[in-house]
Amino acid sequence: MKYCNLCGHTVSLRIPVSDDRERHVCNSCGEVHYLNPRIIVCSLPCYEDKVLLCKRAIEPRYGLWTLPGGFMENGESTSQAAIRETHEEANAHIDALELYSLFNVIHINQVHLFFRARLQNLDFSAGTESLEVALFKHEEVPWDKIAFPAVASTLQQYFLDLPDSHFPLRLADVNLDKNNNRIIKPHNFSHDNS
Ligand SMILES: [Zn+2]
Repeated sequence: MKYCNLCGHTVSLRIPVSDDRERHVCNSCGEVHYLNPRIIVCSLPCYEDKVLLCKRAIEPRYGLWTLPGGFMENGESTSQAAIRETHEEANAHIDALELYSLFNVIHINQVHLFFRARLQNLDFSAGTESLEVALFKHEEVPWDKIAFPAVASTLQQYFLDLPDSHFPLRLADVNLDKNNNRIIKPHNFSHDNS
């Protein structure tokens, strides 16, 4: 950031008293502007042995498939965000949400949450951010056209957990290696998603 959003003066990066890292501090009013990770909330809408995927109508990853999701808004809970995003992107209604996977996406300062959910009915259609919305069985998932590694990981784990209907919370860290490749370090995913 360049300007203070309280008074409009310039900010400088410096370490405030009693802090341990650089912050954007206003050169006029002294306000300290904290930048913290953002939360992305997604749903994994399930119907019988199928999952609902959206083909992206926006960049990045235009034309690739993903689970419905987006930035959490102020004034809502994480599950409300998942329900809202699912409605916006797929005109679909979900309930019975259970937190299923969590990714600390460290290199872009985000936390991604995926809620497993029951798709209430087959009344869904593409929202403005989707080209197409469809249900997929395990063998029908377009694995080479999935938009994001965390989505692919969550889907793979889901279809492994599905036969036993046992869905423990899965945790992973995502970061860049020294060649700037995105690496997923699973804490308790049962498949190799590195
Ligand atoms: Zn200021």
